[in-house]
Amino acid sequence: MPITLSELLRRVDPKTEERVEGARRRANTTVRNLLRDRTRLSFSFEDEGQRRVRQVSVTLDPGRPHNLQDIEFDDDILVLLELSKVRTLLEAGALRWSNYQSVNQMLAANESIQMQPLDGALFEHHQERFKELLQVLDTRDPLQKILHLEHDILGEYSYGTNFYGEEVGEVFIYWGIIGLVSDLLGVNVEDLTIVVLAHELAHAYTHQGFEIDGTQWESKRFKSVDKSVKEGLAQYFTHLFLTSKQDSFPDAFDAFEKLREKQAACYSTPALFIQFISGRLRAPESAVESGC
Ligand SMILES: [Zn+2]
Repeated sequence: MPITLSELLRRVDPKTEERVEGARRRANTTVRNLLRDRTRLSFSFEDEGQRRVRQVSVTLDPGRPHNLQDIEFDDDILVLLELSKVRTLLEAGALRWSNYQSVNQMLAANESIQMQPLDGALFEHHQERFKELLQVLDTRDPLQKILHLEHDILGEYSYGTNFYGEEVGEVFIYWGIIGLVSDLLGVNVEDLTIVVLAHELAHAYTHQGFEIDGTQWESKRFKSVDKSVKEGLAQYFTHLFLTSKQDSFPDAFDAFEKLREKQAACYSTPALFIQFISGRLRAPESAVESGC
């Protein structure tokens, strides 16, 4: 029987919310400081004696069941989720099972370790089975479906122009989806949270951050910009943050790379990275093929 995304989110370990919140708290200031320094955009600006300040809040939510609650997955998703949790074991088994069998045989001939060998016939086909299960995981990859439902499904930067004509926005981190995707990717919840936080805050800085002359990117124009430009910018600064802060968050870069491999092409637009490295931060508003 098919299973809906809402049902999958209900099955995510409720402790995930606490873990996501812990990672957000730990990385929040570091991410913001780096983004401010490297984008040279600031959430505050002194305008003829008046200080204009933007507060960008980060709110945790299980996910976006509003418009995606009825999305259905084949009933193999539950087995695939459990399989994903043992991917490392499967990979090691597929690679080194014969070494383990040799050790088992050594136990019979060597009395220095007082342990009886297991009956080899019980697990002689395990190596082949590990390989088959890995192939199942790779060919039925449910991550492709989840990550392509819509862009930025792990978090969101919601923005607009308010009543006073100010550009405003806030960040949402979807802890339920992060829990689901981290299992399927085989990465830690905390590491994936840091990637999502940096990415969404990078959207906030590129949109709301004041330039040295106090200008910002108008919401209307920001909305009309090609997704590959917006995602390229966010990915560029996320990459910059993760490589600069590898000492503080050592495994988050690995989570970024594993996630990127499964995401739409616009999350890996190298042409944009080069444009922004060369200092053209706000220039391109239409790009290269979107891929989103
Ligand atoms: Zn994004």
